[in-house]
Amino acid sequence: MERAAHHDALLDETGGTAAPTEEGRKAARVRTVFKPLFAAALTAALALSGVCGWLVEQQQAALLRQFELDRRVAQLEQELSRQMDLSQQQREELERRGRELEQAQDTIGLLEEYSMATREGVVPGYTQIYPEMYVQPWEGERIDGGKVCCLTFDDGPSPNTDRVLEVLGRYGIKATFFVVGKTGQQDQERMRSIVAAGHTIAMHSWSHDYKSVYASVDAFLEEFHRLYQWIYEVTGVYPQVFRFPGGSINGYDRGVYQEIVAEMTRRGFVYYDWNASAQDATVTPLSPATVAANCLKGVGQDLVVVLAHDSAARGTTVDALPAVIEGYQAAGYTFSPLHPGVEPVIMGYPAVR
Ligand code: ZN
Repeated sequence: MERAAHHDALLDETGGTAAPTEEGRKAARVRTVFKPLFAAALTAALALSGVCGWLVEQQQAALLRQFELDRRVAQLEQELSRQMDLSQQQREELERRGRELEQAQDTIGLLEEYSMATREGVVPGYTQIYPEMYVQPWEGERIDGGKVCCLTFDDGPSPNTDRVLEVLGRYGIKATFFVVGKTGQQDQERMRSIVAAGHTIAMHSWSHDYKSVYASVDAFLEEFHRLYQWIYEVTGVYPQVFRFPGGSINGYDRGVYQEIVAEMTRRGFVYYDWNASAQDATVTPLSPATVAANCLKGVGQDLVVVLAHDSAARGTTVDALPAVIEGYQAAGYTFSPLHPGVEPVIMGYPAVR
């Protein structure tokens, strides 16, 4: 029974059917007023939180979109700069290949022009003549610098040779004489004096006539073979080094000089140009002071080859010689004659276009 009564009470509390008391009615009124308010508040709160959530979501989405956008922009920028780099690289690569191709074509052209053997592999006849005109491999000292000065005298022998020899002897210095073909008795004596004093006797062509010397490789070899034999006949020594009349690169030997260099080098000869010059091949002789100053312009180079002339008209060159020698000595140089062990001082090949 108690249980049933309790049950009724519960029913009553939840708006059941039990007869309402005074307090029950009051409570019901309160509930009636507050229930919709509560519901409305709840709904509003829910709506608000919903709106807030939506706003937050929207904001996050916007941020994400912005982030994604920034990332994409950065990617595009990177891609763009990579492509620009690439096209720059491609352009440089193309230019490089173009240059290489041009160079290769020039080289092929030069080889065709100057090759010793023809396309069919036929070796030119001049390699077969003068079989005794070969230099033995050099086994002496090697000089490639260390403040060494090599004085050289071209176009002798001459009436000045003895004076040059006297000055060199006084200073105990060995030099080099690039001689031409002279057959007089006195000239032969001078050639022997050069060798006897321990200087180098070297070749400078027989005639010193540019047109004859550089007419062809054969002409050049004929000139030099004649002088080679003559020097041996007069002095008992075979020359091993030579100097091109006018220097290795001049206005007359274009088109033949590579072939001459190839053939003379093949035979073991070494040639020298110069990196300091007396500049004494002038119509009016220069003063000794000027000649000396010119020669001393080589000071500072590790290996100096000084060009001067041994000819009758070059008296001031001999007068300048003591100052030249003392100038180089004061600058800490020693002197050496040229021989195949001395590093060649030669003019550069002209640049390929
Ligand atoms: Zn000369």
